[in-house]
Amino acid sequence: MKLTYLGTAAAEGWPGTFCNCTACRSARALGGKDIRTRSQAIVDGELLLDLPCDTYFHILRGSLDLSAVRWLLVTHSHTDHFYPSELIFRGGCYAYGLKSPKLEVFCNNAVRDCFYRTAGNELLPEVAQTLCFHTLQPFESFEAGPYIITPLPARHMKTEQAFFYLIEREGRSILYAHDTGRFFTEVYDFLERRHTAVSLISLDCTSGPLENGEEGGHMGIPDAICVKQHLLDIGAANTHTRFVLNHFSHNGGLLYAELSLLAAREGMEVSWDGLEVTV
Ligand SMILES: [Zn+2]
Ligand SMILES: [Zn+2]
Ligand SMILES: [Zn+2]
Repeated sequence: MKLTYLGTAAAEGWPGTFCNCTACRSARALGGKDIRTRSQAIVDGELLLDLPCDTYFHILRGSLDLSAVRWLLVTHSHTDHFYPSELIFRGGCYAYGLKSPKLEVFCNNAVRDCFYRTAGNELLPEVAQTLCFHTLQPFESFEAGPYIITPLPARHMKTEQAFFYLIEREGRSILYAHDTGRFFTEVYDFLERRHTAVSLISLDCTSGPLENGEEGGHMGIPDAICVKQHLLDIGAANTHTRFVLNHFSHNGGLLYAELSLLAAREGMEVSWDGLEVTV
């Protein structure tokens, strides 16, 4: 499987839309890997992870053919992960020659309700026919083409059950874990029962070098170190597992080069917009 990071920032983007803090000014000056759009990733060009407001930019940048996407996994309804208005234009007079006639959307109830509330009268019947929503329960695996996908409960928000996802295909696996704090015990139990190390583990690192602690709804490098060690201890990861940190906020302060130095000491990599990881 090939995972491509299309966007790697937290909610406000980095530089933030309205922000002139030191970290955002530095990112504007440096450009390159320090420009981070809102978090989104794609597996093998056909399985999309989240639909943030920067999706359109990812299309323009040439890294995303949205019409070819067959399956969309949405983690939760925060606007940096789900921008429902975009789906209104999937078909009818708005989009011709869809490579995938249907888009299967997998999400929680809040995401589905958010879409239909936003779409309102704008949703054409011929567009509605191209969309198929499936609402999920934690730990209930399902198939999407060649993929076996398990939604896992994220420690992130009280108003809805945010998910992160385990994606498996032909003996390889990706754990895409954003937005979440340190994992719940039940998640570790589930991963331990698989008796298999995950190939790629992508961890929330919203806070950069700062710690969120046991109850936090995001993570920083100190939290990621704890999660990594726990996953190694239970056999859900091994020396071949690639750990990538992702979903960064300017509030963490450290830019790509500084973060990479810290992460490398812990055997982890730092994502950037455009990074491809094949496992
Ligand atoms: Zn987020
Ligand atoms: Zn800033
Ligand atoms: Zn969130």
